[in-house]
Amino acid sequence: MADVSALTSSAYSQALEVIASVEPRIAEATRQELADQRGSLKLIASENYASPAVLMTMGTWFSDKYAEGTVGHRFYAGCQNVDTVETIASEHAKELFGAEYAYVQPHSGIDANLTAYWAILAHRVEGPWLQNAGVKNMNDLSEADWEKLRNELGNQRLLGMSLDAGGHLTHGFRPNISGKMFHQNQYGTDPVTGLLDYDAVAKKVKEFKPLILVAGYSAYPRRVNFAKMREIADSVGATLMVDMAHFAGLVAGKVFTGEENPVPYAHVVTSTSHKSLRGPRGGFILATEEYAPSVDRGCPMVLGGPLSHVMAAKAVAFAEAKTESFQTYAQNVADNAQSLAGGFLSRGAKLVTGGTDNHIVLLDVTSFGLTGRQAESALLDAGVVTNRNSVPSDPNGAWYTSGIRFGTPALTTRGFGHDEFDKVAELVVDVLKNTTPNATKDGAASKATYTLADGVAARTKGASAEMLDKNPLYPGLELS
Ligand SMILES: *Cc1c(COP(=O)(O)O)cnc(C)c1O
Repeated sequence: MADVSALTSSAYSQALEVIASVEPRIAEATRQELADQRGSLKLIASENYASPAVLMTMGTWFSDKYAEGTVGHRFYAGCQNVDTVETIASEHAKELFGAEYAYVQPHSGIDANLTAYWAILAHRVEGPWLQNAGVKNMNDLSEADWEKLRNELGNQRLLGMSLDAGGHLTHGFRPNISGKMFHQNQYGTDPVTGLLDYDAVAKKVKEFKPLILVAGYSAYPRRVNFAKMREIADSVGATLMVDMAHFAGLVAGKVFTGEENPVPYAHVVTSTSHKSLRGPRGGFILATEEYAPSVDRGCPMVLGGPLSHVMAAKAVAFAEAKTESFQTYAQNVADNAQSLAGGFLSRGAKLVTGGTDNHIVLLDVTSFGLTGRQAESALLDAGVVTNRNSVPSDPNGAWYTSGIRFGTPALTTRGFGHDEFDKVAELVVDVLKNTTPNATKDGAASKATYTLADGVAARTKGASAEMLDKNPLYPGLELS
């Protein structure tokens, strides 16, 4: 991580004083959050550390400006500077990803997906429907026809990767809005290898005939061949939507190229900007010319006023991601995942799919006699921050789970390399080997409570502190 200048330190110190003059507890919590992030091994696969430039861009008066609409076509007056910011952000995104069109307004990954779904419905269903009915605008439909159109919009088919195979809840999971607004179905992974089986996906697509095929994941530790996914989508005339929320940084950093790069193959690509891409919390959408006009209607279709300060920070993050040093970072993220996976495998641990070729490592903790919940808590006791995750066909269900998901983006930003990630694997295995489930009243093993052997938390924290001190977060940043 690049050294933070004295000027930045003084800017943050003064900002905290300003905050403290109004609500000191918030200033205090903000200081404490920095201390906590500095002092823990952050292995949550969806988190990262944004640069001071990205963070500072979010703290300005752009936050105060309403700018519903699109560049040059706003529902509010006085948006000339927001227009500048949004234009620069989308130009950067188009160049960075080689996309025909970029929409940078979505507030989050979920907003990006919801906007993309409705844009696809508008393009594929509503447009042709209105044309058939001989009207330009849905307000010109009779009440009876409007009722029919609404019915049709609400009965389209969506096929995405199942949650326990590594998909995201917005990919058609029933409790999520995506599972309710669509007639949904899911594809999984091969029960033996844990890998995506393209022939099985193709078969399911032929049977189910979705309007939208969703590719992308939150917990699948492997690369996806998007050329194959496009071919499968084309076989039934489906729109291919790729949700690259997790791996956008690996696309931007040119680790995923050719058929592993979703942009040339998908009709619509959605993403977050804050995970491996290392930008501000937010979302964005890339699309082909064909889908651009409907995505551009994100507001008023789904969204309200864009977060102009965050769009500005996205522009800064995209500019950072265009640099060679970001490409080196992205390659290190992938290499470090190999080191972490290798560290687990050499110590006899079991990984879903037997390894990784992206930034995620999914450890199956059943061989330690633990549930994901027990493993997650025991690791946290030892200062290792992860999250529990289902494994395919999880015997412990979605609450207790059987897996722990690890990601390398955050600690790679701090400067961790091969030796540190191998050490992380050693520490994790040590903690899990020394954790035992408590017995329930009837003598069975508890799925929730556990005992971590004496001294293990302390020795893990000691070893972590050494690595964390050597690879400081925001080096040079000292708050007065
Ligand atoms: C994280 C994630 C999202 C949601 O992003 P939020 O910004 O939390 O709304 C969507 N899709 C995938 C695949 C993700 O991993």
